[in-house]
Amino acid sequence: MEASSDTRHARAVMAPRDWLWWRLPRTLRAYVALVPCAAIVAIVAAASQAVWTGAELAKFFLLVGCGLVSVAATPRIAYGQGGIVTDFLTVWVLPVAILLPPVYAMLAPIPLLVLTQVHIHRGIVYRRVFTAGAIGLSYGVASLLFHALPASFAGPSIGSGLHALTWALAVAACEVVGWLGHDLLIVAAIKLTDPTARLKNLMFNREALHADLAQIDLGVLTTVVVAVSPVLAVFAVPTVLLVRRFLIHAQLVAQSRYDAKTGLLNVSTWESEATLELVRAARTRSPVALALIDIDHFKSVNDTYGHLVGDKVLRAVTDGLRSQLREYDLAGRFGGEEFVILFPQTTENDARHIAERLRNYVAGMSVPAGESEDSACIKLTISIGVASLNGSRQELTDLIAAADAALYYAKQAGRNRTHVYATATPPVPVTPSPSPVTTAPLDGQC
Ligand code: GH3
Ligand code: MG
Ligand code: MG
Repeated sequence: MEASSDTRHARAVMAPRDWLWWRLPRTLRAYVALVPCAAIVAIVAAASQAVWTGAELAKFFLLVGCGLVSVAATPRIAYGQGGIVTDFLTVWVLPVAILLPPVYAMLAPIPLLVLTQVHIHRGIVYRRVFTAGAIGLSYGVASLLFHALPASFAGPSIGSGLHALTWALAVAACEVVGWLGHDLLIVAAIKLTDPTARLKNLMFNREALHADLAQIDLGVLTTVVVAVSPVLAVFAVPTVLLVRRFLIHAQLVAQSRYDAKTGLLNVSTWESEATLELVRAARTRSPVALALIDIDHFKSVNDTYGHLVGDKVLRAVTDGLRSQLREYDLAGRFGGEEFVILFPQTTENDARHIAERLRNYVAGMSVPAGESEDSACIKLTISIGVASLNGSRQELTDLIAAADAALYYAKQAGRNRTHVYATATPPVPVTPSPSPVTTAPLDGQC
């Protein structure tokens, strides 16, 4: 009988030699291991100093229990969209850090992340372990800081009047320490994984910041409520879930504009935004150009390495293209391995230069086929058709048709080239071109 996916997953976790972690580049592998190891050392050191009391343990289990309930009730879709997910776990770790000794704050993320992994979203295990270490260390430090503050300002109980206010401010300050520490540890891992990653897009976009703000706010409020009476923690559970659902809705609306695989605008959003741009250009009598881009011989990437690597290459090419564009250029995924870019305020000649820059950039890229340092490199090229608005081409469909004809010409002429549409584009005989997919062992350039 075939093993269930749970059993297969458990077996994979129990077989250290098969861990994906081994396939990471050396520096990243060391960093990813260092953070949880440091957390384990800190937990052992703090546990040996701690005086375990029944009252503290009861408070810990109550808070972690509420956290587990809110994890179990999290819609799975919250994790299905890629990118960095604000999981609201620290809403439960913060009160633990403030109201209990630091060792509890370092332990709290472990059951919460185990349940997330087992019940909600089976992510990459070493990433979950890293996150547990990163949250544990940062909130352990936040806890130490809070306990070091004078009782006149903070202290073990919230008190009343002005003290309640300063106490809450101290909690908020410690939450910022925990949040920043945890984010910085994760940013470092992302930068080691991909030095070109744009943190503005990943972590500091509007949606991510809203979610972080909501998480910080709920963490502080929950801590204040629990400081008044621990059993009030149960009232925080539905609030956390409601806020999470509300944020997921906003996240889904924002994401419905984009193509999930490439991060470019999807074709319908691109079309409506491009149409608006053409109306604006007609009103202001400004030039507009359009480029249709097609990856050359992309099928052979799939045939040689499989579709998953094909997807990775697709993402690398679109990330590369995006890195070369201006803020106001409108890039969309037109179809499988075809992309379309509208260049506002751009003459035909400027568009030709931009297209050549994009073509050269992609031709210079090397995408590693695997995760390990010695995996083969994939090199590829793109063909580009360019067209611009003129007296006879005023509609988006006309512009696309002209760029498509120019792209066809570029393909027929041998690929890896840019062609600008001219009414008198001469037909070119079909000449087969060799596959540009070349592989080479990694020699430090990939
Ligand atoms: P040409 O130079 O003529 O454009 O050749 P080509 O191989 O790029 O073009 P063709 O139209 O023959 O094949 C396109 C391939 O792109 C086939 C399809 O499987 C692949 N493709 C389309 N969308 C995706 C995708 O999302 N992921 C992956 N991995 N492959 C895709
Ligand atoms: Mg194609
Ligand atoms: Mg193609």
